[in-house]
Amino acid sequence: STPPTGPSTSAALDGQLVNTTLLPPNIENAGANSPLNALFGDNPYFQAGLGLMGFGVGLTVLRQGSILGLTALRRRMLVSLEINNKDRSYAWFLAWMAHQASASSKGLKTTPWVRSHQLSVETAFEQRSNGSSSVLFNLVAGPGTHWFKYRGAWMQMKRERETRSTQLMSGVPWETVTLTTLSRDRNLFPGLLSEARDLAMQGQEGKLVIHSAWGIEWRPFGQPRRKRPLSSVVLAEEVSQKIKQDVQAFLKRRQWYADRGIPYRRGYLLHGPPGSGKTSFIQALAGSLSYDICLLNLSERGLTDDKLNHLLSNAPERSFVLIEDIDAVFNKRVQTSEDGYQSSVTFSGFLNALDGVASGEERIIFMTTNHIEKLDPALIRPGRVDLIELVDDATPTQARTLFEQFYGGDDHFSDVTQEQLRNIAESVQQLVEKEMKEGRRISMAALQGLFIRNGPTDVVAACQQLLVSRQE
Ligand code: ADP
Repeated sequence: STPPTGPSTSAALDGQLVNTTLLPPNIENAGANSPLNALFGDNPYFQAGLGLMGFGVGLTVLRQGSILGLTALRRRMLVSLEINNKDRSYAWFLAWMAHQASASSKGLKTTPWVRSHQLSVETAFEQRSNGSSSVLFNLVAGPGTHWFKYRGAWMQMKRERETRSTQLMSGVPWETVTLTTLSRDRNLFPGLLSEARDLAMQGQEGKLVIHSAWGIEWRPFGQPRRKRPLSSVVLAEEVSQKIKQDVQAFLKRRQWYADRGIPYRRGYLLHGPPGSGKTSFIQALAGSLSYDICLLNLSERGLTDDKLNHLLSNAPERSFVLIEDIDAVFNKRVQTSEDGYQSSVTFSGFLNALDGVASGEERIIFMTTNHIEKLDPALIRPGRVDLIELVDDATPTQARTLFEQFYGGDDHFSDVTQEQLRNIAESVQQLVEKEMKEGRRISMAALQGLFIRNGPTDVVAACQQLLVSRQE
């Protein structure tokens, strides 16, 4: 049985709640005639205060509600794509965006940026072996939020940088780009990314990409270079053919290696005096096969056996690893650079890295040296170096061919007839042949320099002076 006061109390409370919704019950319960009621109940200021408070509470509830609602709405209506800087499309996307921005600033009809106040600069600096250099600045969207329109859809691009941690070894901070757009436009992402990739590839098409090691990663070094025609590097005829055919034969035998469980790799060593075209030939060969070059400098500071191993096992697809002047690095099994710094790559570590773990990955390594006699026999045994070729100073035929490449078919030597050119070519060939018998040679690089500096009629005399004794 309920106490008689029960229902009446609740009824009274109900009534109070209906009447004065916001008044705390204890105040109401104090009784209609209580002094408190007299003080607050009829006090307009107090009631106004309460009203305001109620309004405030209401607003807060509304705001919380709208935040929740917005989050839910965002979840349903927006879609985000995250790209981090480990991924190849990261650089492609930034370059694409920079391209859009520069195109729009030139008045080309393209997608404009709405906000691009935070820019970063990416500098491509290239120092060529002849001492010249070029610098290219690329302004890309910096960390922050940017907006752009792509095929009629607005997109938000947020670039964020993780400041506390960096990528292992390379020391580059982690970064992400988050693209956000309406859900219905999600199908635009793949299109956008392939556009970015195509733009990046377009810049490389028909060009030779050279990668260099950054910590344990390979990164493109400088701008892609124009490919050099293989025929412009004039080697003794059979040498050029032999190397090219060997590489081509190797590339066709992937299955053959796999069936026999042999690691799919091949090593080449080109040796001979400096300026005979070893490096130029390897680069031109890579270009002719649409391969990249991965330039490995074993004397680089901070390179350890582990890093070297990782680099060699993770070279980009379709690339030659090129290690130049290998004799300078390991002639005494201890590596010391000019300033006396000893690198931490050991000879045995290098051999291990060359042998690598048996993997199906294709690996083509080219090494060059000016002094094959200084190399440790352990390095040039088959399996590590499979083909050794001498790339020597100019032979008479090479000298003649190079001459013809420089002056043949040229119409800016109006004072020299074709007949005369042929005679000079013949004289150059004979001169080199005669001097060769006496032990004097000239390098292809010296011949090239001579042909650049002189008109065809001065060539023979100039050549005579440059022939040097090679009997040391
Ligand atoms: P190496 O690697 O043998 O020291 P490089 O390939 O660096 O020689 O050649 C140096 C320069 O000489 C390059 O500019 C190259 O064009 C020229 N050169 C050297 N050998 C040849 C060659 N056989 N045919 C054409 N050019 C050559």
